[in-house]
Amino acid sequence: MTRVSDLEARRAVEQHRIRAMMTAQRAGERAKLKIGPEHVAWVKEEMCIGCDQCTIVCDDDAIELYDVKMRSPIIDVDINKKAKILREPCTGCGLCVLSCPTDAIVMIDR
Ligand code: SF4
Ligand code: SF4
Repeated sequence: MTRVSDLEARRAVEQHRIRAMMTAQRAGERAKLKIGPEHVAWVKEEMCIGCDQCTIVCDDDAIELYDVKMRSPIIDVDINKKAKILREPCTGCGLCVLSCPTDAIVMIDR
């Protein structure tokens, strides 16, 4: 019979495996990004869901959320939020790109 301690040990192994896989994947994503002062982040508005993740990770206060009219007739909310990058304070670090769940942010040449 499987004991709780066996399950805990298996869980720890799986946790380690998943964490290592995600770390490697993020390192790969980060390596492909154009980062540095000669680059700046850009939000593809149509893909932004206004979740606010990017503003949380941006240490340079380079992202603002603004209101847009809600387009869906099936949800009773008047406005939605969208993110916009402030070019001057953006240092091109690329953190916001990695934080965005919808891949709405890309790095472009400044
Ligand atoms: S690239 Fe860095 S500094 Fe620029 S908006 Fe994203 S998190 Fe902020
Ligand atoms: S993390 Fe992505 S989806 Fe969320 S507000 Fe920022 S740009 Fe929009």
